[in-house]
Formats: sequence, C-alpha cells, structure tokens
Amino acid sequence: MVSTHNLGFPRIGGQRELKFALERYWRGEINAEALEKAGKTLRLQHWTIQSGLDWLPVGDFSFYDHVLDTSQMLGNLPARVDKNADKLTQYFQASRGQAGSSCCDHQIAAAEMTKWFDTNYHYLVPEFSADTAFSAHPERLIAQVTEARSASYNVKPVLIGPVSYLWLGKSKDHTDKLALLENLLAVYAGILQELAKQDIEWVQIDEPILVTELTPEWQQALQKAYFSLAKTGVKLLLTTYFGQLQQNLQLACELPTAGLHIDAINAADETIRVVDWLPSHKILSVGIINGRNIWKTDLNQALDLLEPVHKRLGERLWLAPSCSLLHVPIDLHSEQNLDDDIRDWLAFAVQKLDELQVLAHALNAGRSSVASQLDENTQAIMRRQHSTRVHNTAVKQRCESIRPELSKRQSVYAKRAAIQQAYLQLPDFPTTTIGSFPQTNGIRQARKQYRLGQLERAEYQQQMQAEIRFAIHKQLELDLDVLVHGEAERNDMVEYFGQQLQGFAFTDNGWVQSYGSRCVKPPIIFGDVSRPSPMTVEWTQYAQSLTDKPVKGMLTGPVTILNWSFVRDDQPRSKTCKQISLAIRDEVMDLERAGVKIIQIDEAALREGLPLRQSQWQAYLDWAIESFRITANGVSDKTQIHTHMCYSEFNDIIEAIAAMDADVITIETSRSQMELLDVFRDFEYPNAIGPGVYDIHSPNIPSEQSMVALLKLAAQRINQQKLWVNPDCGLKTRRWEEVEPALKAMVSAARSLRAQLAA
Ligand code: GLN
Ligand code: ZN
Repeated sequence: MVSTHNLGFPRIGGQRELKFALERYWRGEINAEALEKAGKTLRLQHWTIQSGLDWLPVGDFSFYDHVLDTSQMLGNLPARVDKNADKLTQYFQASRGQAGSSCCDHQIAAAEMTKWFDTNYHYLVPEFSADTAFSAHPERLIAQVTEARSASYNVKPVLIGPVSYLWLGKSKDHTDKLALLENLLAVYAGILQELAKQDIEWVQIDEPILVTELTPEWQQALQKAYFSLAKTGVKLLLTTYFGQLQQNLQLACELPTAGLHIDAINAADETIRVVDWLPSHKILSVGIINGRNIWKTDLNQALDLLEPVHKRLGERLWLAPSCSLLHVPIDLHSEQNLDDDIRDWLAFAVQKLDELQVLAHALNAGRSSVASQLDENTQAIMRRQHSTRVHNTAVKQRCESIRPELSKRQSVYAKRAAIQQAYLQLPDFPTTTIGSFPQTNGIRQARKQYRLGQLERAEYQQQMQAEIRFAIHKQLELDLDVLVHGEAERNDMVEYFGQQLQGFAFTDNGWVQSYGSRCVKPPIIFGDVSRPSPMTVEWTQYAQSLTDKPVKGMLTGPVTILNWSFVRDDQPRSKTCKQISLAIRDEVMDLERAGVKIIQIDEAALREGLPLRQSQWQAYLDWAIESFRITANGVSDKTQIHTHMCYSEFNDIIEAIAAMDADVITIETSRSQMELLDVFRDFEYPNAIGPGVYDIHSPNIPSEQSMVALLKLAAQRINQQKLWVNPDCGLKTRRWEEVEPALKAMVSAARSLRAQLAA
C-alpha cells in the first residue's frame, strides 16, 4: 500500500479566523488564553480535514510564521526581546516589534521580513552572531503532538532542517553562519530525541535549499548535519520543494535519512533518476499535486508518472502535494460567486487532498477502483482544455505576430530625452509622486457601495472625480512638477486591471497568507488575456483637464500582474505575460491618444519572479523585459515612459533594468541611505532615475535637510541632469496629515538643490 501525507496545511482558517483572533489579541480585546483556544480550534479543524491521510502534519500551524516558531524552539529569538516576558509576548515582540509606549518601555524592533523562496509568503529572518547559542524548547511542538494524538490522529511533526534554517538567516556581525552548525545540530538532536520519546516514528525535515545552487560548503554542511542526526531514534523524511534538485540530486538521495520527498511538479523528469539513485531502504515521497497553484490535477497523467515508480518501489512510495498547501486557498466550497465553468477546473487545499486519495486508491487497487472519479476528472480536464472561455484566437494570433520592432522606441534615449524636455519643460530635479494618495474611508466606502450596486455609475464617477480634484489641487498647492490622479478608484494595483481584462477570475475567499495576519487574494488567470475597453483613460483624462501641468497615466506592468496572480498551467508563463503585455500596451496607446504626456508602468514584482537558481535568471529576464518593452515602447518619442520598482536590490539585474529602456525609473532607496546607488559606480545607468528620498513605510515626516542630503549622495553617483525627486513608493497607506508636510519638505528640498547645484 502506498501511504499519503501532507507537508503542511494553510493556517489562516477558511474565514480567516486566525487573522481576526490575532488582531483582536493585539488590540487587547481577547487574552492569550482565548488566542490559544482559537489556535487549537483551527488545528483540530485542519486535522479533521486531513484525517483521511496516513500521516498528518504537526508543527505546520503557526501564530505568525513557522520560521519564527523555529527560532523560538531553538532559543534564538533576537536578543532584544524582553527576557522577563512570557513566551507568547516574546514571540510577538520578535514578529511585530514593540513601540516604546511609556517611560520605561523601550522600543523593540521587529525581526526583518523577507520572501520565502520564490513564493509571496514572508518569513521572519533568523538573526545570528558570534554569540549565538542555541537551546532546545520543543514544548509547543510536543504539546501539539499530544493534542493531535488525543484526537487519535497519526502524526508526523514538521521541522525546518538545520541547514536551511542557517541559510535563511542573517549574520549580524559577519560571523560565518556555518560556524554555528555544530551547536545547532546538538540542539536538533535533542529535539529529535525528545520526539522519539513521544514514540514519534517519522519527522518531516524540510531542506528546501536543496533546490538552489549550493556551494560545496553548504553541501558539506548538509552531509555533516544528516550524518550527525542519523541516530536520534526517529525516521527523517528529508523534504525538498519548489524546484529541481539538479546538481544536488545525488546528495539528496544519499544523505543518511529514512526517506526523501521531492517536488514532482517542478521536477517531474527527475523522478525516475531519483528512483535510480535512491538506496533500497529509503521511502520516496512524490509531491504529485501542485501545492503552488489552484488547478485540478490531471489524475490520469499523474498516474502515468506514478505507476512505473510504484512498480519499482511498492510500499516505499508515499504520495503528497509538492509543497505545503500554505500557498493555496483552503476550500473551493467557500466560493459562492465563481461561475460554474471555472469552478469546474479548480482545486484548493481541501480538494487537493481528495485528489491525493484518489491517486493512492488507483495505485493500491488499480485505476478501475476509482473509475468514476478518474472519469469525472478527465471530463473536467477536457472541458478546460477546449473551453472557449480559455481560448481566444485573435489574442493568440496577435501574440504570434509580435515582431521585434514592437518593443523598440522610435529613437534612442538621448534623442527622446531632448524631445521630451522641449515638450514637457520640466525644471531640474523634477518632483513627482509614485501614484496613489491616501485611501480615505470615504473612498473605500464609495468603492464598496458601487461594487455592491448601492451606488449608480454616474454617482460613483462624480465621487471619484471629486477625489481626483482634491488630489490635483493638493499637488498644485504643493507645487509638484508632475502630477498623478491619485488612484482612488483602485483597491489593489493588480486586481483593478484584472477585473477589467478578459481571462481573469476572482474569488471571494481565496485568501493566501502573505505574512502574519495579512493575506492576499490573488486573481486567477485562466484564459487568453485581452482588454475589451480602456481601463484608466477616463480618470487620467479628467485629472489632466484640471491642470496644465503634466499628469502621469498610471498602469501596472505585465510582469507584476503575472507574478501576483495564479497563472494558467497550460502554457508557459512567458506566453501569458506576452498576452498581458499587449493588453496593457493598448492602454498605453489610448492614454497617449488622449493627450497624456507621461505614462508610468509599475513593475513592483519584477524582481520577485527571478528563479531560485541564478543560472535560470537570464531566461526569465529576457521574456520579462521584452514584455515590459512591448507594453511601453509603442509610444512616440515625446511621450515619456516611467517605471517604478519598490525595492533596492538591483545590483545583480541592473543591466536588465536598463534594457527596459524606460525614460525614468523610480526606485526605493531612502531606507538604505542610497546604498543602492553604489551599483551606479560600476554601471552607468543610461536613463533618468528618481531614487526615493522619503520612506513611505514609516509615519515619520522626513525633513528637508535629510532629503537634500540623500539627493546630494545620489548626485555623486548619477548625473544630476538625470535625477528626479520622489518618495519611495505610493502613498495610499498614509494619511494626508503625514503626506502633506512630507511632500512640502520634498518640494523644498528639490528647490534648495536647484539653487545649490543647478548649472
Ligand atoms: N502606483 C502604485 C502606487 O502608488 C505603485 C505601488 C507599488 O509599487 N507597490 O500605489
Ligand atoms: Zn512601490
């Protein structure tokens, strides 16, 4: 018999119960006991859902982040947390920080957050230094084991492996992280022995770094780790996900563990090689259901892959989703408004586990034992394949006929820049903002009423126009040079466009955890993408009608729309991206025709689409940059294209960024004190740049001097003729009381610079 198991279940709850419990707890509305109870209720619910599996995960639940849980279990919360506080308080101090409220309370900075591999989940970065000393605190995990067992579940604790844990963390004093391995392994051994005492048979130990490019030092660390953890009394299931093992394949097979889990979605063609290399005492867990996407599995196709493996491994074969189901929504049944066609094609976490059972049955008792389920599945797969909702011949033809000229501006930058300057007549150090202005309650209310049909279109339009008038008047008062309409009509920079494009669907409850209590609801791109009608022109045109100063048209770029959505799996991502790029290109051209002189195309998520292995970066960048260029470059020379990216790690992709050929790029820099600009010492960025001088993530109002200082730093690296003055990102999360003085100071900073530096 093949066994089934799961690597992890979403924690947030079908109705986001965890989010609401956490937020009530943080506001002081419920106590710790009530929060713990909410956690317990959710865990039990999740185990009940998974109860058909042979092994249920324990330790995958978390109040904030499983990496932070690991840090706490290893006695490695940042030293700044209050030693006298209880564990839960310490945990939230590390995750959220603590404001210095009264005289004696000092401020505690939260741990840094960063993306979990190539997902949109953020983890709290472990901190290391030469003084780091680990200690074992597995109480919480063991309590949860007991909890699951008292409900009679067969459990498999889940741990982040020691080597991935080190790899994910940051050395605060440049200590070599691997120097900490020895001590860390002793602590892991202690925890595993503790679990063995609880009669735990299997422990899932996640080493996702096995799908990245590892130096020999890190490979040796894995060897050392698993040799030293081989005799703790539990069986270890070494777990990899999010990609192919490639050069680490042999290593993963040979490490002395009792089992190995591989991602057979991203590395289907490695499966047989793994079987070849796998020592005969090991079990192999094949991650056969996609844990990163929302499509139904083609069960027959999966069986085609599994059956030969089953033949060779027999009982040594386990089945699972490719990775934790943390990255997909919980239950398709909570969707009331999805249309039936599309619902028919989808599987969320609960449905994915059902698929797993069908596959196990088919292997154990033959496909005929689940003939009706397989048949139903085939029908759904076929309906999707042939649906006219998915396929649009005109879009396909247009994509086929993309010629290289489509992605080229008419003239080179230098020539365009001169034409644009004559057309726009901007001062030196032109000032602008990134697009959004504060989203007030009034704005949210209007959007909601309109969505619910409580507000007529005309009335809604009037309210939005009033917001635009307000934003334009404020900007004129502040004397900014290039204005924006303020994005009042958008609740989200991707959803706003997705809702107006063909080929997108939206869920009511398809929440996926982003960090802590924050969730996102990614759109589902199910079909060929096209734009039935203009999406932003009326707002921008209205804003432009109120002033002679240029108003920027404001769009989200194709790569960002792609990277923040669930993407169809029946064609390469690059192809879907091209389709989006053509749709947004149409909008660009319409804006230009409507008299808009400057158009900004945001690519906030370009960097996060980079593959985990650097050797695959160029292929991604090639099509991603090409897509941006298709979107942007149809305009005439005098139209100025801006792009915006809200991060600062550019060093390794600067050439690709330059190849986008936007006339102006605005980027985040203020938090790093312009450190980022170091890259421009070695690389002469050809076009204009607006390094953000105002950190919009903080409520603090930046002073004129601080911004002048930042700009002077920037002017050391960038030709001052090419410098723009702007905040780090959009201002929608701020309040006008913060924004106004900050922008006032920013405009003064630009003026003072003009006086001091301008030729
Ligand atoms: N134009 C968007 C805004 O200002 C950009 C947001 C982003 O880059 N995340 O809100
Ligand atoms: Zn941004």
